Amino acid sequence: MARPGGSAWTALARRGVLQCGAGRWSRGVQGSRRGVSTAVDEVEPQGGGGEDSGGAVAGRRPDLGTLDADSEVFAQAISSSSVLTTVRECRQQYPGSVLLVRVGDFYELYFEQADEVGGAVLGLQVVDKKFRSGTVRFTGFPARSLLRYVEILVARHGLSVALCEQFQEPMRRSFTRKVTRVITPGTLIDESCLDDIGVHNYILCIADASAPVAPRAEAQVRRRRGRPRKSPDSTPPSEADAGDAVADEVPLCLAWLDLATGSFMASTSSSAGLSADLARIRPREILVSDSDARVQSLVASMFPAHAPGRPAVARVPAASFAQYMAAQPADSGALAGPLNPNSQYPMAAPALGASPDRLLAAAELADGERAAACALLSYVAATQLGLLPPLQPPRRYSAESHMRMSAATMDALELVRPAGGAGASATTTLLGEINLTRTSAGSRLLATRLTAPSTSADIIEQRLDLVEFFSAAPRVRELIRARLANVGDIERAVNKLSLNCGGPHDLLEIARSLREVAHIKQALDDHVDAASRPPDAAASVAAGRPRRQRPTASAASHRKRPEMAAIVRRHAQALQALPGLVRDIGDRIRSDAERDVRAFGFLKPNCNEQITQLHAQLAAKHQERQQLQQQWQAAYACASLRLDSMPALGHFIEVARRDAARLQESGAFRMVQTLKSRVRFENAQWTHLLSEIELLRARLCAEEMRAFEELRDRVLEASATIRTNSRVLANVDVAISMAIVAITRQYTRPRLAPDDGSAPDHTIAGGRHPVIETQLLGSGRQFVSNDCAFSAADGRVLLLTGPNMGGKSTYLRQIALTSILAQMGGFVPADSARLDIADAIYSRIGARDNLALDQSTFMVEMVETAHILTRATARSLVILDEIGRGTATADGVAIAYATLKYLHDTVRCKAVFATHYHELVPHVVPALPALRTLHTAVHEDGRGGFAFLHKVRPGVYSKSHALYVAQIAGVPKPVLAMARDFAAAGLVRPSH
Ligand code: ADP
Ligand code: MG
Repeated sequence: MARPGGSAWTALARRGVLQCGAGRWSRGVQGSRRGVSTAVDEVEPQGGGGEDSGGAVAGRRPDLGTLDADSEVFAQAISSSSVLTTVRECRQQYPGSVLLVRVGDFYELYFEQADEVGGAVLGLQVVDKKFRSGTVRFTGFPARSLLRYVEILVARHGLSVALCEQFQEPMRRSFTRKVTRVITPGTLIDESCLDDIGVHNYILCIADASAPVAPRAEAQVRRRRGRPRKSPDSTPPSEADAGDAVADEVPLCLAWLDLATGSFMASTSSSAGLSADLARIRPREILVSDSDARVQSLVASMFPAHAPGRPAVARVPAASFAQYMAAQPADSGALAGPLNPNSQYPMAAPALGASPDRLLAAAELADGERAAACALLSYVAATQLGLLPPLQPPRRYSAESHMRMSAATMDALELVRPAGGAGASATTTLLGEINLTRTSAGSRLLATRLTAPSTSADIIEQRLDLVEFFSAAPRVRELIRARLANVGDIERAVNKLSLNCGGPHDLLEIARSLREVAHIKQALDDHVDAASRPPDAAASVAAGRPRRQRPTASAASHRKRPEMAAIVRRHAQALQALPGLVRDIGDRIRSDAERDVRAFGFLKPNCNEQITQLHAQLAAKHQERQQLQQQWQAAYACASLRLDSMPALGHFIEVARRDAARLQESGAFRMVQTLKSRVRFENAQWTHLLSEIELLRARLCAEEMRAFEELRDRVLEASATIRTNSRVLANVDVAISMAIVAITRQYTRPRLAPDDGSAPDHTIAGGRHPVIETQLLGSGRQFVSNDCAFSAADGRVLLLTGPNMGGKSTYLRQIALTSILAQMGGFVPADSARLDIADAIYSRIGARDNLALDQSTFMVEMVETAHILTRATARSLVILDEIGRGTATADGVAIAYATLKYLHDTVRCKAVFATHYHELVPHVVPALPALRTLHTAVHEDGRGGFAFLHKVRPGVYSKSHALYVAQIAGVPKPVLAMARDFAAAGLVRPSH
């Protein structure tokens, strides 16, 4: 197991999160004052039984003001309390964090954080707590509710929490307290705190690639490499085709990590591409250099204050961007040593996980990407107090191998987020529509593919092969699907274990999932031959709801079956079930083990000889205790006598007050405490017996911990295999999900047109909109399918006219969604499709203000149009809906004309252009030879009535039927009548 090492690294961990480099980790605290929006149980704050618990007293709040941890007042208040001493030390070390201190069975907040966070954010009751030297504001909640409160503070309010745990030395009553973990929005890994573990929880770091990493670090980097290195992707991909408009772009490098699953990526981008990157990655927390005002203001401009879903932004020391740059790859192995400052405690693991130096040395990254990854890892390591999960080196996200989509495009097409904002239903998104995955890892993979479809024909074909295999093999598909339902989030379990946040429960989850891996591997092996047999088409349809008769998914196949079988076989071979590990976990850990490793008794009593013996000895001692109690009850005729112990008091014998005299007279018992109705005594025999019991329990605890740590280390040693299993299963899960969608909704396998750079070759027959089709079906209506073709004969630019509500926007979107589905490796909602691979999809759809960013509807429209015109290439697919609508008609038509001509003549991309402005037609048709006109058809009955046919046909339609739409929408009759009169008066003449 790799040990994190490096003197700077160790020093960082030792000094703690806040003293890294010259600067301090600081956080743009947001949301903490948004008021109490949370309904949580109020708990009665109590002393948790620790050594400092004074009673809670009502009274005036001492004037401590906002805590200055060095202040005199504070020094006085803490002089007699070790809890308060800890609070001061931790608050000094972690000034930007909410400090939760474990005292007994409670987590407590002190001083101004009690009111400002405990009271205002968590809705807890705040009281004054009495200490010898005065009273202090304080509140708390039961330890078992920790994750619920962490979720409120971190996930909902974007705050950072420093968790200060207590550790009791075995056989001693004193406690030591240490911060074991700092939880920030981007390093939150507990699944119960995340609203959706089906998407990644990324923390992302942005480095300005044009700025030197750091003068000293750069020299070190050069020395390490021996020569200046050209980055593998030093030119931002979009820059090549962007022209003058992007000359003042700032090149940026990004690194992003999902700490819980280990997904670690890096890429090169630019200031102009950042919003698309952020829309795709959707980080929860963004790290920027504390000395880079340009990047800071760029990020701030993208996330207006109080915007929903706004990520937390943390400033990190500029020096951390060079943290691991200087290390020689060869050094890193030698730089071992305990990283975790808590290693004397049972919960603290030996240094596990990856070494950042080695990780980064192994990665092929551009300098700026490496710098971003450095700062990211040093921040994560600092929050985890030196621990890192067993990560793989960051993988480069290459913009060229993925379809580019702007943030506006992803929003407009509702890929993963509904356009109506956070409150809107997820069923309107494409992800919601096609996500039938059974595992969290599968769901994450599907979301990732959807926001970053591939541009590689090979990759797309391989994914399609797997989908086709499963769509043609219903038995194996259903068998594996049932197995997948039992597979846990094993990447997350491994990472939790490596970060000391995991417990026996995670071991069980890994074992359970690995058992399913064995079955799935077997099922794939057994059925791989099925790929070479003709598919059982009837059976494949039986799994879904048979609807209209369309060609079945597999009928469209054009790949050879042996190729498919090879891909399935590769997946089966990559799975490794680790039977030895599974057996040992099953043999040792009780199936009802709790999540917390400190919950004693998770090991099976018969799991090894020593544990069996200790259990037997402990049972004997408990028997002895029972006998002693009965013996004394009989001897002193005292049925109320109990042998007992309490952490604060130690061992004692308790009797009812009326029986106390008999014990006192005997001389064998020493009275230690008198309560209202009971009296407590001490006796050497019970003291001795209890210490024997405690010793045995301590030995059992240590044995349990040893057994747990041994299993955990074995899991971590196998982490690469477990991660591979998880990836393969996620792949299979996604393919099965797509296969079921294909079968139940009559999707078809797309054919990819060869990319020979000639005329477009993009034809969809009987295409549908995947989401609207389902919505219409829900209300008993049927979606009207439409064809679409781009070719030398059919044109490259399509001008679509038609009445309001005729189906123009739907048609545009379904063309874009079909390409996205195909390039992510899925079947498409069409009778057949032959598609060019698009390098990018750009859309300008719908009118909306972005008032939060101070942009009017027209401004938003023009910003998006400018983005498209400067970035689209001949291989892009562009859909434009109602360009120029946000301004006066004459200007709007002019802009629409120029945009259309530029796309046609200069960009030469495939484009569909929906417009109300039929005035355009006489101007563009003769001038643009590759333009064709289409319209959405309407059936008119000749008496003024009409019906939308939603069918797209060649030609132009010049009526808007706006008054009819207004009537359906419920505009009052008098208003409609006035509008009709006004139109009839011909004051504003529509041009035909
Ligand atoms: P437009 O952009 O022309 O105003 P939309 O594309 O917004 O029209 O479509 C309006 C409504 O018409 C949609 O919400 C949908 O209910 C229905 N619709 C559109 N296209 C189709 C279709 N192909 N088949 C059935 N209904 C459709
Ligand atoms: Mg429309």
